[in-house]
Amino acid sequence: MPTRPAALLLRSATVVDTRDGSRRPGTDVLVQDGVITAVGPALAAPDGTVPVDARGRYVVPGFNDMHAHPLGRGGDVAATLELMLAHGITGYRQMSGDFDLLHARARGELRFPDASPALLAMPGPLLTMLNTATPEQAVATVREQVAAGADFVKSAAMSKERFFDAQAEALRLGVPIVGHLPGGIDVLRASRLGIRSIEHFGSGLGVLACCSTEEHDIQRAAGERQRLSLPKIKMPFMDKAVNALMRRVVLNPVNLNKAEDVAIVDRAVRTYDEDRTRELAAHFVADGTWHVPTLIRQKTSKLCDDPSFAADPDLRYMSPATLRTWHGVVGRFRKRFTPEQRATLAASHRAEYDMARIFDEAGVRMLVGTDSSGAVWVVPGAALHDEIDLLAEAGVPPLRLLQMLTLFAAEFLGTTDSMGTVEAGRNADLVLLDADPVADAANLHRVVGVVRAGTHYSEQDLTATKDRLAAARTVD
Ligand SMILES: [Zn+2]
Repeated sequence: MPTRPAALLLRSATVVDTRDGSRRPGTDVLVQDGVITAVGPALAAPDGTVPVDARGRYVVPGFNDMHAHPLGRGGDVAATLELMLAHGITGYRQMSGDFDLLHARARGELRFPDASPALLAMPGPLLTMLNTATPEQAVATVREQVAAGADFVKSAAMSKERFFDAQAEALRLGVPIVGHLPGGIDVLRASRLGIRSIEHFGSGLGVLACCSTEEHDIQRAAGERQRLSLPKIKMPFMDKAVNALMRRVVLNPVNLNKAEDVAIVDRAVRTYDEDRTRELAAHFVADGTWHVPTLIRQKTSKLCDDPSFAADPDLRYMSPATLRTWHGVVGRFRKRFTPEQRATLAASHRAEYDMARIFDEAGVRMLVGTDSSGAVWVVPGAALHDEIDLLAEAGVPPLRLLQMLTLFAAEFLGTTDSMGTVEAGRNADLVLLDADPVADAANLHRVVGVVRAGTHYSEQDLTATKDRLAAARTVD
């Protein structure tokens, strides 16, 4: 394992400006104590500087997985984080949390091995019907999480009414609310009032319903279905049971759908309308509402039994227990849905590519996220590259993808003074590529070096790490 030198000099790299895609060949990048201190031609190296020959390398800021769950699920967290780093991920937004994690961080006791990406932001426990049963409880829950240091609150399985209660309190406290859109919610109202980011296109019908010419009927039907599905009676020990259930459900939430739900999806797909999608996009732009499509998570959920997933070479990293669980999820998917219903789910996924393209063309701000360590067939680290491919397939151009991975993540978090560009003063979290990422999005896969907090991991280091983790198979 490499250790961090006092100073590191990347020699003769081509530095890519994430703001406009311009490339500066023959550029040195000097890193001291984990921070970039100079960028320019032929820099002088202080004594003891470790040189890295970066000729033919494109240097970009490290990638950020803006929807991931490596923490708090037990399992081998260090291995998961290392696998993410080995794929070029130097930062992640943790999308679920608990009070133990928040308290540990507040006490300065939440530490990770050096070979880990940075924890950029973390919420408290997900907002569900259990901690938002009444308006008072929704408010109290948000207050409690913010007091414990949550960077944001995340809506998961809650009613649309309680969503607005929680949103109002979060905004009052100056903390963002992000997450899933409850079934039947007035999406434009949530956007206008300030949901900071919508994940998975809302999860469930969410945003797709708004792109339909029959939006109101579909939303009413979806709201009614959700009302029926949320349990109303709170029993002792239910929290634990529900948490265990949630962990199983999140592997593939589509498996909860009944025939009636798929029928509503079918109606939304059949009445999907590009002009409606453009109108909706204009609202998101005006409101400053971000999107994290997580197309890979959508694909593995909706096309769960696609044979390509079970044949994915990246499964070599996953623990045998996780693979057994995933195959079980596929078995339930097969049993639950008829071929016609599976075709409907696949069609709703196709619409999501159209939405991603139209949102991007309209200027909706989007981020790259995977839902790793929480979703069936989604391999931590590797899935970021799957997501890049799917967004490229949708029509998002290469420079925009690079921006979504780097600069936009910094803008979303309000941390452009420390990340998102290769400039003096920024954290030395970098990726080295052996081909031009602005010319072709596929070149974003060609990670031949990572710098994390000033430590350089060579291509050999990254390969050795991957092989070691594959041999150990402890990632889940
Ligand atoms: Zn998630």
